[in-house]
Amino acid sequence: MVYDSIITLNEKSIQNNISFLRSKFGEKVKISAVVKANAYGHGIEQIVPVFDKYGIDHFSVFYYKEAVRVYNCSSKPRSIMVMGWLCDEDIKDAIEKGIEFFVFSIERLKTAVEFAKDLNLKAKIHIEAETGMNRSGLDFGEIECAIEIIKENISFIEVCGFCTHLAGAESISNHFRIQNQLQKYKEMFARFEASGLNAKYKHVANSAASFVYPDTRMDMVRVGIMLYGFWSSTEVFVQYINNQNDRLDPLKRILGWKSHIMSLKKVKSGEFVGYGISYLAQGDIVTALVPVGYSMGYNRSLSNKGHVLIRGHRCNLIGLVNMNMIIIDVTNIKNVEVGDAVVLIGKQGKLEIKVSSFSNLCEELNYEVLAHLSESITRIVSK
Ligand SMILES: *Cc1c(COP(=O)(O)O)cnc(C)c1O
Repeated sequence: MVYDSIITLNEKSIQNNISFLRSKFGEKVKISAVVKANAYGHGIEQIVPVFDKYGIDHFSVFYYKEAVRVYNCSSKPRSIMVMGWLCDEDIKDAIEKGIEFFVFSIERLKTAVEFAKDLNLKAKIHIEAETGMNRSGLDFGEIECAIEIIKENISFIEVCGFCTHLAGAESISNHFRIQNQLQKYKEMFARFEASGLNAKYKHVANSAASFVYPDTRMDMVRVGIMLYGFWSSTEVFVQYINNQNDRLDPLKRILGWKSHIMSLKKVKSGEFVGYGISYLAQGDIVTALVPVGYSMGYNRSLSNKGHVLIRGHRCNLIGLVNMNMIIIDVTNIKNVEVGDAVVLIGKQGKLEIKVSSFSNLCEELNYEVLAHLSESITRIVSK
């Protein structure tokens, strides 16, 4: 027992999720595994080799530094796509390494052309179209301009993709907006194609869109949350499951997080526990200290609300979540000992602490709970 807390990743669940998604999308649709935010908290270095093993050869990230981490963790040829931030110097490095990136401004396109010329290589780009999210992307006029630049520099630019991002496919309330976006995307791509240019992959869908609007799968889907075993929203899950006979969730969670009891203490009735006066012992109680706190990603708003599993029991978190510790009421657990396993997320016996229970309590999205898991937590893949 050398770790303070540990994240385990279940390889069988990863395999299950990939094969479920493949069976839905078919072989013609490329799956780009989104591994931004440290692979949604699962760990880039641990997840990428396993995704590799089960046939994923396209990865998407937000920051260039994440792309380099993906690049460094396998020798296999694969596509890596930066959907967000890279600075000018990164663009040069990306071209040298063959890393692909979104182009959402004419300046970025021009910079890419300059570096590609210097290096006598092709910059691999994805044209991001602004279709109505009003976040990033080239508008109609800028697409015209990009077309000219690409045509003039066709030996230095490879158009790997023509893409956009949909503004909330996981909620039916955005239906109208999404339809408008898809219409606009079609028109913009038609203009692009009419110029004589083409793109290897047309892609617009994230996890939610790929299920709610199957037409959006096109040549490639950028799937994040579902690969990790979560539905984008309850709506998306309900829509899917209502059309199935077995009513079973086909996705499996990959991640478990556990720690140990660091010390035990008896607290007398009428005493406050931890900082301040938020928890008052109503009787003589036994408390267990667990070396995990908000610095590891255990949200502070779970103070006096969270639950953990110890010896097959669900136990209450009492008092405030500290930077490095939480306190658990273990009064009713017989034979409880220092060193006992404490499940923060995952299963123990028949009980389970789900990320969703976590996120409901602290009003966070699954995405947030996962993304906040500190990179410093040890992560291992279990068979
Ligand atoms: C994060 C992201 C995705 C993946 O979203 P999921 O809901 O996790 O599938 C796809 N595309 C873009 C542009 C993203 O930023």
